[in-house]
Amino acid sequence: MSTQPPQAGTGPEISIRGLHKSFGDNEVLRGIDLDVAHGEVVCVIGPSGSGKSTLLRCVNLLEEPTKGQVYVGGTEVTDPDVDIDAVRRRIGMVFQQFNLFPHLTVTENLTLPQRRVLRRDRATAARIAAQNLKRVGLAEKADAYPSSLSGGQQQRVAIARALAMGPEVMLFDEPTSALDPELVGDVLAVMRSLADEGMTMMVVTHEMSFAREVADRVVFMDGGVVVEDGEPAQVIGAPRHERTRHFLSRLL
Ligand code: ADP
Ligand code: MG
Repeated sequence: MSTQPPQAGTGPEISIRGLHKSFGDNEVLRGIDLDVAHGEVVCVIGPSGSGKSTLLRCVNLLEEPTKGQVYVGGTEVTDPDVDIDAVRRRIGMVFQQFNLFPHLTVTENLTLPQRRVLRRDRATAARIAAQNLKRVGLAEKADAYPSSLSGGQQQRVAIARALAMGPEVMLFDEPTSALDPELVGDVLAVMRSLADEGMTMMVVTHEMSFAREVADRVVFMDGGVVVEDGEPAQVIGAPRHERTRHFLSRLL
């Protein structure tokens, strides 16, 4: 793999080089090298505690890497002089917990960050909110409060909220893990349609059928390193490493 940093506009959308992260004495990421091409969907799988969330959080600087570089769209986001807020605007993130504001309507949940962070005027923010609610199939819930929605609907609102900021890449950290099984499918369907639209995505998930059908690549992490990285059919269907086989056998 090349160690040259990517050039703006030509290289991968996300490029991670020699990434290390420690919490005190606990080295959680032990040298990660990973590229995600423009429009590519990469699913990250691995046991609990293997560093998957930390990896995503280092990409949008919710965690500060101990060592190594992360580039997004050719900009080094780990450069100490970078404008972190400007970087985060380009990266949407969806968590297991949806974190909607309970006292705001669905539309207000979507317009607030647009107005605060992007300084959009009220009418523009409302128009973009409506477009993105439609995109996740929830146009009719515009005036509802989060507590009246199912978990799956709340997660789709959280996805729409991230999309309304116009991100170049989307990071998903176990977006369906907190949902009742019957609500998972609608959220995965929204993610699949985003993938079809050409969104660049990193998705931490235990949904192997989603990874198989939607991902361009699957990355298996264990102990803070990438153990295996390849096409879904290979990594899931014919894993090369014993650790990958062991992990997959326990999911079935
Ligand atoms: P995964 O998402 O694969 O389950 P995480 O990235 O959440 O793994 O965690 C990897 C390791 O890092 C765990 O041992 C966890 O306890 C530790 N860790 C994560 N975040 C923090 C933090 N903010 N402070 C201290 N330790 C943390
Ligand atoms: Mg995690």
